[in-house]
Amino acid sequence: MKPFLRLHRLQRLPWSVVCLALGTQGNTEHHQVSLSFRDAALTPTTGEQGPPTPRCPESLSPHVCLRIFPSCLARSAQRQPLRLLRTEAQGAAAGRVRADAPSAAVSRAFASSRGVDIAGLHAQPSTHLLEEVKELFSSLGVDCNILELDQVDEGASVQEALSEITSQRTVPSVFVNRVHVGGCDHTFQAHQSGLLQQLLQQDPAYDYDLIVIGGGSGGLSCAQEAAVLGRKVMVLDFVVPSPRGTAWGLGGTCVNVGCIPKKLMHQAALLGQALTDSRKFGWEYSQQVRHSWATMTEAIQSHIGSLSWSHRLALREKAVTYVNSYGEFVEHHKVKATNEKGQEALYTAAKFVIATGERPRYLGIPGDREYCVTSDDLFSLPYCPGETLVVGASYVALECAGFLAGLGLEVTVMVRSVLLRGFDQEMAEKVGASMQQLGVHFLRKFVPVEVQQLERGLPGRLKVVAKSTEGTETIEGIYNTVLLAIGRDSCTKKLGLEKIGVNVSEKTGKIPVNDEEQTSVPYVYAVGDVLEGKPQLTPVAVQAGKLLARRLFGGRSEKCDYVNVPTVVFTPLEYGCCGYSEEKAGEVYQAENLNVYHTLFWPLEWTVAGRDNNTCYAKIICNKLDNDRVIGFHVLGPNAGEITQGFAAAMKCGLTKQLLDDTIGIHPTFSWLTETSSEPLRPWVLTKMSSLLREQLPLQKTLLPTRSIPVRGIISDPQDEPPSSGCPLAGRPQDLVAPR
Ligand SMILES: Cc1cc2nc3c(=O)[nH]c(=O)nc-3n(C[C@H](O)[C@H](O)[C@H](O)COP(=O)(O)OP(=O)(O)OC[C@H]3O[C@@H](n4cnc5c(N)ncnc54)[C@H](O)[C@@H]3O)c2cc1C
Repeated sequence: MKPFLRLHRLQRLPWSVVCLALGTQGNTEHHQVSLSFRDAALTPTTGEQGPPTPRCPESLSPHVCLRIFPSCLARSAQRQPLRLLRTEAQGAAAGRVRADAPSAAVSRAFASSRGVDIAGLHAQPSTHLLEEVKELFSSLGVDCNILELDQVDEGASVQEALSEITSQRTVPSVFVNRVHVGGCDHTFQAHQSGLLQQLLQQDPAYDYDLIVIGGGSGGLSCAQEAAVLGRKVMVLDFVVPSPRGTAWGLGGTCVNVGCIPKKLMHQAALLGQALTDSRKFGWEYSQQVRHSWATMTEAIQSHIGSLSWSHRLALREKAVTYVNSYGEFVEHHKVKATNEKGQEALYTAAKFVIATGERPRYLGIPGDREYCVTSDDLFSLPYCPGETLVVGASYVALECAGFLAGLGLEVTVMVRSVLLRGFDQEMAEKVGASMQQLGVHFLRKFVPVEVQQLERGLPGRLKVVAKSTEGTETIEGIYNTVLLAIGRDSCTKKLGLEKIGVNVSEKTGKIPVNDEEQTSVPYVYAVGDVLEGKPQLTPVAVQAGKLLARRLFGGRSEKCDYVNVPTVVFTPLEYGCCGYSEEKAGEVYQAENLNVYHTLFWPLEWTVAGRDNNTCYAKIICNKLDNDRVIGFHVLGPNAGEITQGFAAAMKCGLTKQLLDDTIGIHPTFSWLTETSSEPLRPWVLTKMSSLLREQLPLQKTLLPTRSIPVRGIISDPQDEPPSSGCPLAGRPQDLVAPR
């Protein structure tokens, strides 16, 4: 039976997809692999889930040249030696054929598993070409293994074997890390295009050039960029189910249990508010309006499913190997991957990126893991949570509390110390106050000490015992659901990092890296939420991952800029910020060197709706010593996220107070305000803040109490509630999401 290796271009597929059939005649062994032609990277697709790769029609003629990874050939090569029957050079990047299964003579001659091998002639006429190639590698600081075919015993048979496997009949014939580059011209072309440098960096001693552990925002961005740059990449992603048993697919926190479902639920709540406003704008309707938790979660989960699937497709298209397994280091350059069924596999790589993110923290009190949920569970909760206690004051806590209240649920937030730690505290208090206006109850300076189940059910009833952080007072409350949002722990404990010596902060469990995201072990990098002291945001992880891949494999040098990263808290009234909080700016620049400008504003769409004119607020912090440069931007109002993005770009460009004043605004938007009708119109009419002005400002009618309020501790029997398909809001006909 004659072994064969056929290369096909499939005309019906996008041009970038080619298919390689490998096996023996009679089809006793037949694999299919798909690859990106541009990157010439191959990944076996046999047995993968998802849409099948079409099989190669045998009738199509061989059309492309590509390099073939040994892993694809290994199984067949073990049984019978393979020969590449035909390849055709197509442009400068083509003609690269991996010499993994050459004739015995070539194997002996090019025995070295890595480095540069050049077959040439000592005698004229091609000596000068050999010298040019040698000089090129010498200028790159790379040693070459030169085989002068006319000087060795087996020279003729080696040359014949080389011609056979490469289709190149001339010398010199250059191999880099066992990849055939071509003759002198091809080698110089490869040098010009950067391909030579890429090949020189490759290390065939490993299964992969890069293994990324964690398929979330940072990991996926890094893996895909590395693959686009021609690297052989694997992503290991595995979701350990939450204590409640919730798990999800590829894409990490953002897609599945973070930004995306959170923003969509926020939107669901905003629509409820819009319904209330709509009556003032003339909309009349008599039918009962109720919100269905089940419809909302089903629609959101369906969208998440499509996002997760498109991540899988993107990996596939870029020929990244995705393995749904838990990764942990077992020794240097080697990870163990364990899948859902407990099956283990070992993989090696030249470089690793850790992008394992974080998971919600539990309180460590009786009943927390058994009865409480976290953000990992909330977005796919199969029933309306009913009256909810949110424990924590992080942005995740306030956002969840905000949309639950916006959907019409009774919500209490239990706060140990301050709201939105790390954010500007004046803004944080205003966020809290605006939530209070919406009907969210705050219990300050209390922490839960025990959660007991009073009644099973969907939802059931839970009793929470809490104690004061300032005294001995203990209180109790009864809720349908307790949502813990007290912080998140980095997924670094079970990664086997100690086995290879990657430093992890004992205090935070996070990974310290240098400004190139390199850990204490030079070939191991980290991006995203696992990083010590970096903003924990999706766009940050994405940018860091992409730039890291470009530095590692694309010859680029740009580093991720972690300064002036904008962010938004999607509470019912959104809070956007960029740069320093007032507290931090004071620490860094000293309070006397700062100018702080601020204003309250009333969005036009709130006027007719009759909403509060005393809530929306903007503030900028400027450095007096640097031409009043804006070093902190804060806004509390509708669509704050959309506004903040533009200001962040302006701050990167060196925005000053004067430039802000000189900018003509868009009318009528609320990011552009008029002081009086006779004043010139400006984007933000900001008043310089002094203690006197602060007092004069008509600030919130009610600021958050700093002392604890006893838990109301009352919930109606779920029997009295509307059916589980409708949240309690349904009980208020014609009074839509009325603020309580
Ligand atoms: C409720 C919530 C709302 C958020 N909202 C926003 C927002 O509005 N805007 C924003 O920018 N950011 C938001 N974030 C933060 C954002 O989700 C994260 O910053 C981002 O997802 C971090 O990406 P990452 O790649 O570091 O980790 P992740 O996206 O968490 O991905 C890590 C992946 O690695 C997997 N993993 C862990 N250990 C292993 C292992 N040993 N082997 C294999 N796989 C492993 C995990 O299961 C996960 O799939 C939010 C977060 C939460 C929780």
